[in-house]
Order: sequence, then C-alpha cells, then structure tokens
Amino acid sequence: MARYSELSRQELETLRTELTERYEQFKRRGLKLDMSRGKPSSDQLDLANGLFDVVNSKTSCLSADGTDCRNYGDFTGIPDCKVIFCEMLGVAPEELFICGNSSLTMMYDAIGKMVLHGVRPGAEPWWKTPERKFLCPVPGYDRHFAITQRYNFEMIPVEMDENGPDMDVVERLAASDPTIKGIWCVPKYSNPNGVTYSDETVRRLARMKTAASDFMIMWDNAYAVHDLHPEERQQILNILEECKAAGDPDRVMMFASTSKISHAGAGVAAFACSTAVMENMKNLLTIQTISFDKVNMLRHARYFKNLDGVLAHMEKLAAELRPKFQTVLDAFNNELAGKGIAEWIEPKGGYFISLNVLDGCAKKVVQMCKDAGVVLTSAGATYPYGKDPRDRNIRVAPSYPTISELRQAVELLCLCVELAGVEKLLEQ
Ligand code: PLP
Repeated sequence: MARYSELSRQELETLRTELTERYEQFKRRGLKLDMSRGKPSSDQLDLANGLFDVVNSKTSCLSADGTDCRNYGDFTGIPDCKVIFCEMLGVAPEELFICGNSSLTMMYDAIGKMVLHGVRPGAEPWWKTPERKFLCPVPGYDRHFAITQRYNFEMIPVEMDENGPDMDVVERLAASDPTIKGIWCVPKYSNPNGVTYSDETVRRLARMKTAASDFMIMWDNAYAVHDLHPEERQQILNILEECKAAGDPDRVMMFASTSKISHAGAGVAAFACSTAVMENMKNLLTIQTISFDKVNMLRHARYFKNLDGVLAHMEKLAAELRPKFQTVLDAFNNELAGKGIAEWIEPKGGYFISLNVLDGCAKKVVQMCKDAGVVLTSAGATYPYGKDPRDRNIRVAPSYPTISELRQAVELLCLCVELAGVEKLLEQ
C-alpha cells in the first residue's frame, strides 16, 4: 500500500473523485448513529440485572455489620460493599469512602473542597492562589478538563506516551511552579487512548518534587477492571502505597465506580486516600449528607460479593465488547493502515479507541461524519478548552452501537479520514 504522501497530484485527484462519490452515496443512506459517548450497550446492562433480585421486599436489608440499609448510618459505606472497592483499589477500609452513584460527582466535589477549604492537612484553600494551574495529560477525559476549567484553573496539557504522561515534563513543571496544584490521571486503559501507566510512571508521580506542598494527584481509576483480554490483564502499581513509601501519603485521591461494571449512572462510586485526607473529607462531607444510598451498596455487595465476583462479571462484559473493538480495529487496519494518514493504539481494555488523523483534519472528519449521519465525540474534546493544537485526535466509542451499526459507522469514518487526508495533501 502506497503512502498517500508519495502519490502524484494526478493520483490524489483521482482518489479524491472516487472517495467523494462514495461519500455522497453514504449521505444518501440516511444513517442516524451516535457514537459520541462511551455508554454500555443495553446487552451489557442486562447482564447485571440480577442486581434487582438480591434486595427486594422479601429479602433482608441488613448489611454485614447489621446496619439497616434503608436507614441512616454507616456514613463511609457498608463494610460488605467496601470489600469490593478495597480489593479493587488495594486500600484499607478506613482509607475508603463509598458515596453515591457517580465518581465524577465526587471528583467535582473534591476539587471544589480543595478550592474552598483545602483538603490536605494544613493546606490553604486554593482560592487563595488566583493564578492556579492543573496538569492535564492529553489526550484525556473531557469532563476532567471541564471540572478544572469550571474552577478557574489554567490547564497545562502534557503529552501522553505509551507509559503515561511525559514524566520529564510533569516533573519539571511540578517542581518549578507552586501554583501548579495537581494532575489528572486515568492510570489504567486511559480515556481515550487506552494507555496503562508503567510502574516507573507511577513511582515518579509519587516521588517527584512538587513546588506546591498541597499538590494533588487526581487518580481516576475508572477502568480498573475493564480488561478486554482478561488473560492479558494489565496491572498498575498502587499509587497510595507508593506515595506512603515516598513519605507523602496525602498526595493522592483515588476514584472508581461501578458505572461500567453494573449500571451506568446507577452504580456505586468510591474514593480512597490517606487517613489524614479522609478525616478532612469526612468532616466536610458530614455537613453535606447524613448518608449515601446504602440500599444500592447492598445490592452491589450481594450481587458481586468481592473482587473475584466483579472480575467474573467483567469477563462477560469483555465478551460483549471485544467484537465491537475488533470491528473498529479491523476497519482501521484494512482501510487506513500503511497509507500514512492515520495512527491508533490497539487498547487492551477500557472503553475507547483513540485515532490520530493528519494534522488539521480531525474537526473536518467529525463534521463530515455528522453530515452523513454519524455523531462522534467532538474533535478537540480530548484536550483542555476543547482545543487540540494539532486538530488531529478523534475519540471512538465502540461500546453502544450494534456490530452492524458499528460497521457502517466505522466504514464512513475511514472514508472521511481518507477524503480529508487526500484533500489536505492536495492543498500542500
Ligand atoms: N472517569 C472516566 C475516565 C470516565 O471515562 C467516565 C465515564 O466515561 C467517568 C469517570 C464517569 O464515571 P461515573 O459514572 O462514575 O461518574
């Protein structure tokens, strides 16, 4: 397969005519597909419907410590549900707080608490640093960036490589500027490029010098157990343990939820941190609520029992997801490989495939797909302020559509990538 940059102008023009014809045919098909968000499919959600049977009008509502889950109590979460998250995150029960249905809510809340009150022992509230900044590994999760934007942080993008964020840059910035208050991390099967942080990255994050004494690593382990190939499960180091070993246990808050394990938006979320940070979080949370939804915690505890139960369930979900990821990857390999117009990583887990097209083409590709009936995540969304400086990254979310829908959508996507690429080469 010739790289398109090696084709003559004449060849490129012929190709453009062919691709444009195919694109116009696509438009006439009247597709209507939404691949913009990483939502589980209904088939995946069905697999966890047993949750509805384990707590009902005929069962007891008592947790393992005898708390009636219908009532107030067990402020930090019921012990039987803590078993699951403690195993998943590698933390002790006193380092864990189970909250409501959404980890994103807790991240928004935690940053808000850091801005308003300070959360690390002895930390000043961040509002006292009006020029505050946050490190944002890119491409990354749009909603993380939205939180720090909302709270008036200047966001500094840091490029990701196959080991996580570029740690030379992270270390240099964190050590040199006390107004840099933290970093967003999705350490396993990151959103969107599926990268898992190497042990060295985790150690360097835990040990690096930070000019800010209240630096916080926001460790969003949203895809902790979301292996597409359970036999090749990737493991990450326990960042809280690494921070303890480095003498700064208060540097990290970990987050996770069952949104993409059980029912999205109707699962259970948790955060974990040092006991000192936990004390401050509890003092603030206790004003906010008397207790979170323990009935849902009980459902999850009874249904999954422990991490092994979760992992067994995740294998069923992986069996649903694998063919969908493969459909997208097959199309990329068949239609785009070797042409020098796109690159991608084959993720081993998580919910996304990250596609880089030729510089300056991502917005155009997403718009062309939309005009032909397929909605993708907005180009730029994977960068702070929605601005991808090279306008090249597109996040593909294969979980929700059916395989036949995906086939059509990804055929269109590849076609648009080719057409935009050819047009770009013709402009040069
Ligand atoms: N964190 C990451 C990295 C995500 O990709 C998502 C959802 O796509 C979330 C958090 C949302 O999690 P929750 O439903 O627990 O708020």
